[in-house]
Amino acid sequence: MSERKDLLGDVRRVVVKIGTTSLIKDGAVSKEFMDSVAEQVFRLREEGRQVLIVTSGAIGIGLKAMGAKPKPNEMPIRQAAASVGQSILMQRWSESFQRYGILVAQILMTFDVYSDRDSANNLNNTVESLLDNSVVPIFNENDAVCINEIKFGDNDTLSAIVASRTDSDLLVILSDIDGLYDSNPSENRDARFIPVVHRIDDSIKAMAGGTSSGFGTGGMKTKIDAAEICRDARCNMIIASSKVYGVVYRTVAGDDVGTLFVSGDEVPKKRRWIKSAHAAGRITIDKGAEKAVLEHRSLLPVGIRKVEGEFRKGEVVEIVCEGRIIAKGVPSYSSKELASIAGRHSDEIEGILGYRLHADAVLSENIALLTI
Ligand code: GLU
Repeated sequence: MSERKDLLGDVRRVVVKIGTTSLIKDGAVSKEFMDSVAEQVFRLREEGRQVLIVTSGAIGIGLKAMGAKPKPNEMPIRQAAASVGQSILMQRWSESFQRYGILVAQILMTFDVYSDRDSANNLNNTVESLLDNSVVPIFNENDAVCINEIKFGDNDTLSAIVASRTDSDLLVILSDIDGLYDSNPSENRDARFIPVVHRIDDSIKAMAGGTSSGFGTGGMKTKIDAAEICRDARCNMIIASSKVYGVVYRTVAGDDVGTLFVSGDEVPKKRRWIKSAHAAGRITIDKGAEKAVLEHRSLLPVGIRKVEGEFRKGEVVEIVCEGRIIAKGVPSYSSKELASIAGRHSDEIEGILGYRLHADAVLSENIALLTI
């Protein structure tokens, strides 16, 4: 067995993310490309694999249909274009898949929906039911209603969250770049292609332009962020060029195409959700409490210095020490309650609030560290 096939293992469930540049050729939606994706998905399903798609392109297609040319940062026209483009986009996907007798479903996501644990769980039920009924779920961000605070921001992140949430084995990100290089290949003829990444460390992040020494290959940073989300979910990830013939089928089959990011040990689902959910507020803690949190112990009220934002019990907050976000967590108390017990001993909670749920402000099982 080739090393790649060995590293990938048996892919039962795969998410394929398709970027705008892959879909739109010479200013028009490429029917040929969409038909080819549908054909490859058909072949994968014939082998008993399940496929989910995350598609971009709504804004690009909508702007073209409306003949609109927005100024940079002009949002309303982009949001209008998204709603025009999304229906054209789905119509095209539906036509391509129909050729192979496959039904597709549209799922539009916003970050605030995902940040609500019940909605995130409901989403799972919907997806499982679609897959049980042999439907291909097609996701995009709900750009028409999205403002900054409720945005995933990019479909690389969205696709990684979908892969993590649905316990997929592999995420394939199709783009106009064929993978990760150690320096910018368009500027440096000696740039070395990296076929496999076993560990996402600072040197890998630097290659992606995440640091001042990076060369900033456009969307590579968000792809590395996506790889970190996948890693925690025990999901492999491949970045590959959509120009490679049969790329969807070949990456899943374990051919040496693109850069493979090998998954790590699985982080429990609840912690993964805490890590990527929207933070409704922040708790600033002292050094002693930081030590406890970093040692995977609970956060006690006595270590809390400041509570910011308004949040209910059960919402996600950032946990900050000396200005650095070290973790995210789900407190056992609301922001108002935490503000009144901050800096106080756990024995005093009942006297102050009139009741006591936990001696801890945030239980260790409800804390996800961001520093590792
Ligand atoms: N949701 C956007 C669209 O459909 C694309 C965002 C992205 O590609 O990251 O146009």
